[in-house]
Amino acid sequence: MLNQFLSELRKLVPNERIYTDELRRLGWGTDASFYRHIPKVVIRSDGEAEISLIVGLCRKYKLPFTFRAAGTSLSGQSCTDSVLIVAGKHWERYSMAADRETITLQPGIVGARVNEILKLYGRVFPPDPASIGSAMVGGIVVNNASGMNCGVHANSDRMLVSARIILTDGTVLDTGSEESRRQFRETHPDFLEKIIALRDKVRADKELASRIRTKYSIKNVTGLNLRPLVAYDDPFDIIAHSIVGSEGTLAFLSEVTMKTLRDYPFKASAMVYFLTMKESCEAVVEMKQLKAGDEDLNMSAEQLMVKSAEMLDYMSLNSVDDPVFLQYKKDVDAGKIEGVKPGDYHNLTAILTETKAITHEQLLEKIATIKNCLGRFRLYRPAEFTEDPTVYGKYWAIRSGIFPSVGGTRPVGTSCLIEDVAFPIESLPEATVRLQQLIADHGYSDACIYGHAFEGNYHFILNQSFAEKAEVDRYADMMKAVARLVVEDYDGSLKAEHGTGRNMAPFVRYEWGDKAYDAMRELKAIFDPEGLLNQGVIFNDDPECFIKCLKPLPVLDFNFDAVPDGGQYLMDPTLSTAKETVEQVRRANKCIECGFCEVNCMSCGLTLSSRMRIAVQREIRKLTVTGSDPDRLATLKKQYKYYGDQTCATDGLCSTSCPMKINTGELTHLIRQMDMNESPIGYKVGEFAANHMAGIKSGLRVILDVAHLGHITLGPTLMTSVCRTMNKMGMPLWTTAMPRKKRQPVPSDLTQFIIDRSLPHHTSPRTSDLKVVYFPSCINQTMGLSKESPVKRPLVDEVSQLLHKAGYEVLFPEGMEHMCCGQIWESKGMLDIADRKSGELEAALWKASEQGRYPVLCAQSPCLHRMKMVMHRMHLYEPAEFIMTYLVDRLDFHSIDRHVALHLTCSTREMGVDKDMIALARLCSNNVYLPEGVGCCGFAGDRGFTFPELNKYGLRKLRPQIEANHIEVGYSNSRTCEIGLESNTGIPYMSIVYLVNECTTPKQKESINK
Ligand SMILES: Cc1cc2nc3c(=O)[nH]c(=O)nc-3n(C[C@H](O)[C@H](O)[C@H](O)COP(=O)(O)OP(=O)(O)OC[C@H]3O[C@@H](n4cnc5c(N)ncnc54)[C@H](O)[C@@H]3O)c2cc1C
Ligand code: SF4
Ligand code: SF4
Repeated sequence: MLNQFLSELRKLVPNERIYTDELRRLGWGTDASFYRHIPKVVIRSDGEAEISLIVGLCRKYKLPFTFRAAGTSLSGQSCTDSVLIVAGKHWERYSMAADRETITLQPGIVGARVNEILKLYGRVFPPDPASIGSAMVGGIVVNNASGMNCGVHANSDRMLVSARIILTDGTVLDTGSEESRRQFRETHPDFLEKIIALRDKVRADKELASRIRTKYSIKNVTGLNLRPLVAYDDPFDIIAHSIVGSEGTLAFLSEVTMKTLRDYPFKASAMVYFLTMKESCEAVVEMKQLKAGDEDLNMSAEQLMVKSAEMLDYMSLNSVDDPVFLQYKKDVDAGKIEGVKPGDYHNLTAILTETKAITHEQLLEKIATIKNCLGRFRLYRPAEFTEDPTVYGKYWAIRSGIFPSVGGTRPVGTSCLIEDVAFPIESLPEATVRLQQLIADHGYSDACIYGHAFEGNYHFILNQSFAEKAEVDRYADMMKAVARLVVEDYDGSLKAEHGTGRNMAPFVRYEWGDKAYDAMRELKAIFDPEGLLNQGVIFNDDPECFIKCLKPLPVLDFNFDAVPDGGQYLMDPTLSTAKETVEQVRRANKCIECGFCEVNCMSCGLTLSSRMRIAVQREIRKLTVTGSDPDRLATLKKQYKYYGDQTCATDGLCSTSCPMKINTGELTHLIRQMDMNESPIGYKVGEFAANHMAGIKSGLRVILDVAHLGHITLGPTLMTSVCRTMNKMGMPLWTTAMPRKKRQPVPSDLTQFIIDRSLPHHTSPRTSDLKVVYFPSCINQTMGLSKESPVKRPLVDEVSQLLHKAGYEVLFPEGMEHMCCGQIWESKGMLDIADRKSGELEAALWKASEQGRYPVLCAQSPCLHRMKMVMHRMHLYEPAEFIMTYLVDRLDFHSIDRHVALHLTCSTREMGVDKDMIALARLCSNNVYLPEGVGCCGFAGDRGFTFPELNKYGLRKLRPQIEANHIEVGYSNSRTCEIGLESNTGIPYMSIVYLVNECTTPKQKESINK
């Protein structure tokens, strides 16, 4: 049956968006939950028509199907063992109402991106889950996800205006379009009648209707959303709002129109420390009574003075080494805290609170009122509000740091679980203390409780092993006890934010009671009569499903002794590349498979993402250790070669959004190094190249010369097609953007820059104290500019001229032609050679800089990045940072109107010099364009030559922007990236130094001295 399904599917969807192989099914099937379900097929969907057809096909073959956005769900609602339909990257369009009060969004736009768009208009997207940097609109709305600020008053249910959905029969309904509603009335009268009948039935039962209203007065995402049945009369509104919180069990959301809110201009926060947890909760209850003026309704949809109150228990404070908590411990041990015995720290509880206002006067008034309220409680320290973003940024960083800290320090092989319950606010003081006790009673001594106290919503983090039955039983017992506490004693919510999924499915009836549960079942049957949509999620008849299909987390303990140079080398503390790599691979064990790295991973969507790489490696590890399925192991290993290894750009951008700071590029480096074992010849070639750098460079110049000759004689079209054919045979790809050779600079060239009197405003650098050591990088010593480039002067000459213009004397390291930072070997996994080369370079630079007296400049940002990682004795700069630090005051800038694009390389971003680069470009041109949605270019050192698809994919969004904005030239700071940029945009890309040199003249002496 699956085969028939697939053969029909292939007629509807291009094959490259259908994954049936072991590796990608595992990778794409992994979500942030602790459940493992491997889909039979993964389909990357592209457009409504396609979804309608796929859904129709699933029904025809009775195959259950699940939708997925970013896969950051925690309760097991975005994984399946059947058909997985991904709606992410191809679903990113949006439009805004003229008054900016509403925004219409496709489901694949990341929440944080929506806020970026709205920020320009002083507005915000109200739902604010902590995962907003990765979670997509589809997942946020369909999970009814929320966070610190939106509470229940501004969640997706309250903010939704209309929805465009695709039903299981393939019908598209847009509840915001009168025409679509009219058609639906004609085609689906039964559907509407059933919705109306259910609405009336629920409302007729006063007790049920009242219970529904009460339960949604606090955060609640357990089960389907019943609020629309009591809140809206119009059946189309009921349909649209039922999608909120439906976790993909009712219909596909293809577009949603949401209200936006105005952002407050004035904000202040305070971290308030209470001497007991109970009092902290009592204070929260009182703060909730403080009402703001009517104007707040327009801003936050709620008239409260306090906008958020986050609780952090003592274990949470401990996990982030909160300085006040550390002091408290000292005070307790010194007997300074009345009634508390030394060693007992469990009472201290912090509430991080925030207030916002439209005017500064209002803000001060609010602060005074809140402080007055807090004054009635026993505080460890007086409450102090701050309006300084740097200071309150630190408070919020402490709050955000709890989860990564706890997750990062958990024992390897355990899962980091985040539970999510809510109590009615008036029960908070008692319920919180009981929850803390209950968790401790089940032996979770390192668990911490924190969360949105203002909404009665707490998360507790547990480090849980599922390796043994006893541990699974412990977890099950605790969850049942939590369910009793929350439901029986307080009528709270078992899931407040994260969705029911498979995790709470067995408890839905228990929490809601029979009548409400039956209403949910009825609603489900109206939308999905065959029960194919997200089977097992929300509705699951297996009472044990929450402890079944648990995800194994085998330890990634590579045999470091098996590297070519032996374990000895990897253990050598002086070899920093190896140390860093080993450290990062160990850190990969902390991965919680949250998927936050995927927004930055350039290969996500082409092959695998960083999360998928780790998930597959874990599976490979499990199969290796257990020996359970050698064929599957062999298949995964084979497929990983291309999808995991060869197409990883090793740029490390994944680490920038990873809560655990895991750089999967380092894992790739290690795997490449291990693979050298199987291919010692590759290692020997690397060794030869390292020992014959100067010869290799000359050889490369010959190749570039031959290619250039081919370009001239064959012409660009014929040459490109010849080279594409050669690339398919495994040869590096040549494109028209390929550089011409660059003659190796010789000492006489270098002198030329020092005595070149033909330069305008000649200064006398020989007599100046201003010196800089310039290492052009081996790439810039070898590769010049492309044939199409509007300028011809090689970069080494250009940099030298600019430095000279600013009065600097240029010093080149001795033996430069033999030198390399080692980047190229690192990227190939030859870590020992990489370290040897960087060691040689460091020695030469140390000498040239007179033991660090003079700054060192390298014109190639990825090389400089590596140098910064492994050399710590000298001041190292890439061009933009160097110019902004040393030259900007020694040059006059004459800005031009040319439309220029800037490409910020990964290394530029990682080194934090992107701001310098932007500022510098803006000094030179009045029309600097920063392309949207372009991160890593995917050239990845030399990978763009051998795997050009990586480069093409990384830059897929660039060319349309270049054309739409009439960009003439692009600037960057990496020659290899520039080659890829030029090939994929059709405009020349070159170092930013060319722009600066063009737009500057030396400053007059008088002004320099000022
Ligand atoms: C570290 C961490 C912190 C988190 N913090 C929060 C938090 O503060 N608050 C919170 O509420 N959640 C939080 N979450 C949970 C999760 O991130 C959110 O629920 C998020 O909104 C899910 O979005 P997603 O894009 O990943 O959706 P997915 O996980 O891909 O999908 C979510 C659900 O929507 C369905 N779906 C997806 N797209 C569609 C579509 N187009 N049509 C129909 N159904 C669809 C899926 O089937 C699934 O059931 C957190 C998760 C992690 C890992
Ligand atoms: S690498 Fe980091 S961001 Fe990516 S899934 Fe693992 S923990 Fe999450
Ligand atoms: S190094 Fe780059 S390509 Fe590789 S996993 Fe990380 S972000 Fe993705």
